[in-house]
Amino acid sequence: MKWGESKIMNCAEFQKVLPYIFETGGNTDELEHLKTCPICSDLVQDLRYIADQAKLLLPLRDPSPQVWDNIQNSLEREGLVKPQAARAQSAGKKKIASRE
Ligand SMILES: [Zn+2]
Repeated sequence: MKWGESKIMNCAEFQKVLPYIFETGGNTDELEHLKTCPICSDLVQDLRYIADQAKLLLPLRDPSPQVWDNIQNSLEREGLVKPQAARAQSAGKKKIASRE
């Protein structure tokens, strides 16, 4: 590649590699196009939204225990569920042997 010769991506090229961009986060060229192209950035935003919705509908495949811990923790932080420990304490002086 010569100096001053920059590879400018067009929309068709960008959209061809979109799935790859979703997986990897995109390289510099791709992100540059995304920044400068309202058409593609709108498209990506729409796809992200759809992907998020789809994730909510699909059951998680083999979620790691850490994922569940994170979900649990954020629910507790938001006050949506009571922490397990607090519930066990109010039930008596039982020791908490396990989280189940
Ligand atoms: Zn574009």
